[in-house]
Amino acid sequence: MIYIDADLKTYRCTYTVGNKNFSTGTLENQDKLSGWYKHMLLNLPECLACPLGGYCSGGCRISSVINPKLRCQEEKASFDFFVKQVLIPWLKQSES
Ligand code: SF4
Repeated sequence: MIYIDADLKTYRCTYTVGNKNFSTGTLENQDKLSGWYKHMLLNLPECLACPLGGYCSGGCRISSVINPKLRCQEEKASFDFFVKQVLIPWLKQSES
């Protein structure tokens, strides 16, 4: 998925459309080497070593640029919420 602004610049995230600092190029010339295309678990050593790597896969790209520590805190909170609100109730229901 890509998003396009009025100047035909391209973006990978709805929150960045129009901010040229986060553009991935143009329709004709996508910068496939930009951080936006490389931001995935297998390209992030710290995430490969993290127990949450398979869950968040590096999390939000913008958060990783602006505040990586906060990104990880939010991913951990998201994982805890998932376990408490979804996984545990589902397992309890499966037992009965
Ligand atoms: S919590 Fe942080 S270090 Fe762990 S996988 Fe997610 S982004 Fe990477």
